Amino acid sequence: MSPTRHAAARALLSDPLTNKGTAFTAEERDAFGLHGLLPPHVGTLDSQIERRRKALEEKESDFQRYAFLRELQDSNEVLFHALVQSDLPRMLPLVYTPTVGEGCERFSEIWRRPRGLFLSYPNRDRISDILADPAYDRVKVIVVSDGERILGLGDQGAGGMGIPIGKLALYTACAGIHPSEVLPILLDLGTDNHARREDPLYVGWRAPRVRGQDYDDFVETFVSAVNDRFPGVLLQWEDFAGKNAYDLLVRYRDRLLSFNDDIQGTAATAVGTLLAAIGRTGVPLTEQRVVLFGAGAAGSGVAEMLVQAMMADGLDEKAARANIWAVDRDGLILSDIPRLPQQQAKLARDPAEIEGWNVSGQNMISLQEVVANVHPTVLIGTSGQKAAFDERTIRTMAETVERPVVFPLSNPISRAEAHPADILEWTGGKAIVGTGSPFGTPGVTQVNNVYIFPGVGLGALASGATAVSDAMFMAAARRLGELGGGTQDGRGGLLPAVTELRDVALEIAVAVAAQAQAEGLATAEPEALTRESIAASMWQARYA
Ligand code: NAD
Repeated sequence: MSPTRHAAARALLSDPLTNKGTAFTAEERDAFGLHGLLPPHVGTLDSQIERRRKALEEKESDFQRYAFLRELQDSNEVLFHALVQSDLPRMLPLVYTPTVGEGCERFSEIWRRPRGLFLSYPNRDRISDILADPAYDRVKVIVVSDGERILGLGDQGAGGMGIPIGKLALYTACAGIHPSEVLPILLDLGTDNHARREDPLYVGWRAPRVRGQDYDDFVETFVSAVNDRFPGVLLQWEDFAGKNAYDLLVRYRDRLLSFNDDIQGTAATAVGTLLAAIGRTGVPLTEQRVVLFGAGAAGSGVAEMLVQAMMADGLDEKAARANIWAVDRDGLILSDIPRLPQQQAKLARDPAEIEGWNVSGQNMISLQEVVANVHPTVLIGTSGQKAAFDERTIRTMAETVERPVVFPLSNPISRAEAHPADILEWTGGKAIVGTGSPFGTPGVTQVNNVYIFPGVGLGALASGATAVSDAMFMAAARRLGELGGGTQDGRGGLLPAVTELRDVALEIAVAVAAQAQAEGLATAEPEALTRESIAASMWQARYA
């Protein structure tokens, strides 16, 4: 064999997009000169899945399983995705929340092979050059983070890359986007996490975070380069800290087919699940009294979508806002609190309302005081504050509401506002409970964005949408709410099981594509928007 043929054979095995490992057939081994590089046995995808499953289960911790799966993804993408799809309830918590949280915190420890792109501040003049690599010619979906607000774990710097990698694995698993069409990107603008920066193993740029105009200029350079290189690409902003999350969404949503999953994806997931819960309680959305705990990107996104949904159901904006109370670190958000961020100012309540509420004597109205006075039907946590929903608050809520809806959505599990089993116990099983991460508590719904973003992305791409509108997210939320799940006695989960996530993504995609068309945002031919066409476009993890 010639040296080039030897090199090509090795390249075939070391590229995770082409490697089939022992599943290369005898003919392929002849054709590509693979004999000797592989053991003689010719395996099948199924036998490979079984071998990897066994090795996976022999690991001692979920973090080790996470690292194992990351290495598998970097060596054989088809096998990785086939394994993930073979058992979504087992695999999702390993490749995504909650384990991905530790995966980000310990990203540098398990650094092995490059995946995706690190665009660092010192390389800001090279961004176009880096994106020009022909390896990215097929890219259709980008998930990008700057690592500043990773789940509820704060600034993880370059370790935040775990999130774009994990989310894109779900785009493939749930929406059938081919692995060669996804690109995880981490904008490395430094980190203010001292422990990371001082860790000798840290793989990121060791500098305090770049902020202000320099930050904005960097992102502008990035977005322009993406627009030039990947016209029509779908870009998902992920785990940016509050103000940047909003600013980037607003600045770029008309220039780039893009959305912010923390704001819009969470909102659609929470509202969709709430609509499913309302089906159980029988109280119409317009009569719900909703308390939101943690009014950052996720919480205020949920609030704004709830306002829109209530308005669509007949309320005017003032009446819709009157049904929502937002609590943040300074307690109930009141209009006389100075320097409220814009998103929180929209949710601020009139201070006249709280007369007599403050029984604790603190200089703020606590969650407990809000619950005692508002008698909420719904309590949603997006604060990243562990155990913030205490027994007294939940018991108080259950005193006046027949079936309280309680969603402690913060991730990972270590940041959840309450354990779902406790909420069920404190309410005598009356509560309808949803959590961000999977706890394994029977009857509890996992209210996670994975129910929304793969379908929204798929629908936007299939329709050739020129923008992702709020109405497309509303269509996704309503469709999710209709899909239902659980059991007739009202004890089961509110959403379809995790095993059905591919069907969920398809249903959401069909609804999103139809909405894009209705709004004049779709550029694809109408035939491309049907359920059949979209389903046919979804990649299955099988060897070519
Ligand atoms: P964020 O930082 O934008 O918002 C967090 C908010 O909580 C901020 O406004 C902060 O001031 C507030 N907060 C902090 N301490 C508080 C306290 N003691 N009391 C009340 N409020 C307090 O972050 P985000 O993007 O909104 O995410 C928040 C949490 O929601 C994270 O844990 C994240 O994992 C979770 N989340 C879950 C899902 C899901 O799919 N289930 C989706 C998105 C976000």
